[in-house]
Amino acid sequence: MLPRVPLTSLPPLDLVRLFPGIEAYARTATRLHPRPGVPSVSGSHVGGMLLWPQHEPWPTCPGPHLIRTEIPVPPQVAAMLMMPGPETLVALEQQVPGFAGVRTTEAGTVVLGTEVVSEPAGSPLVPLAQLHAADVPDLRCPAGTDVLQVLWCPNEHPGDSPTGPPVLLKWRTASSVVDPLDAPPAPLVVSDEDYLPRPCVLHPEQITEYPWWRELPDELGRRIRAFDDTRRFGEHGYYSASRAPGWKVGGCPNWEVSDPIPMDCPHCHQSMELLLTLDPTESGAGGAWLPVEESHLQPSHIDPEWKAAHEPTGVSVGRRLRIFVCLTCPDTPIRQNLQ
Ligand SMILES: [Zn+2]
Ligand SMILES: [Zn+2]
Repeated sequence: MLPRVPLTSLPPLDLVRLFPGIEAYARTATRLHPRPGVPSVSGSHVGGMLLWPQHEPWPTCPGPHLIRTEIPVPPQVAAMLMMPGPETLVALEQQVPGFAGVRTTEAGTVVLGTEVVSEPAGSPLVPLAQLHAADVPDLRCPAGTDVLQVLWCPNEHPGDSPTGPPVLLKWRTASSVVDPLDAPPAPLVVSDEDYLPRPCVLHPEQITEYPWWRELPDELGRRIRAFDDTRRFGEHGYYSASRAPGWKVGGCPNWEVSDPIPMDCPHCHQSMELLLTLDPTESGAGGAWLPVEESHLQPSHIDPEWKAAHEPTGVSVGRRLRIFVCLTCPDTPIRQNLQ
């Protein structure tokens, strides 16, 4: 079990008082509250090492991977690229694989491109999280397992979009790992540092969330939408009070980018449940949902204490990546949704 260092967040509005009847649609979520630290191999954490048997092959990704390239150009060529004409742009697109533009800094000018690279031996996946059911109240594990391990490849792949890098889930029984590896093998390629999680310890906290307004009965949903339409800039509404930001297990998906998308199991065609949300930031507008214990912090990207509380994991993938799972089908299929 984790040492219980409570982080207590308060929703910015009392939604049950504002919208009687909404309590029937409440769902719990567990905010993980990751904070930079030194996680143990055996515990629950983000980043860090997983409980992984020495004899079990570490999962790899064969690619191909999209690797960003930067080709330095001499000053006389850089001058020509300041205002490139159509012919120059055509030439760049023909000669630079995946031409993506020109960047000039004090260090000089580079032409940006993308190469497609395969790894014959496979590039080891990176641990994203290890979560024990005993630590995370909303983590439901398949029968016979009590820990979830999440891994991914820290690279862009042709065809990844729009669901983000593919995630691998491993469900285990923690007590069955008696000879754990000490450290994960390093990935051979890392095309995006934003896909490498900073090791974090967790402070799980169970909270209550409510569905996106379009997932509620019509009358209730419209009442909520009308209320939010009256909110002035900077005022909290149902939108900001009904779901917490940050890394969390369970709860209700936010559908602010698209209307709700049915996340049905490809095998049994039943609706899948929201398992895990990866969110780059842990607090909402104006510091909403910031834990009480950290409420003295003022938003500032040059304050290391604020950064550790607001962007602890260093993982950035869209606004948020959600992993849905079907726990009924024997192979626990998943679907990803990137907003
Ligand atoms: Zn890969
Ligand atoms: Zn299913």
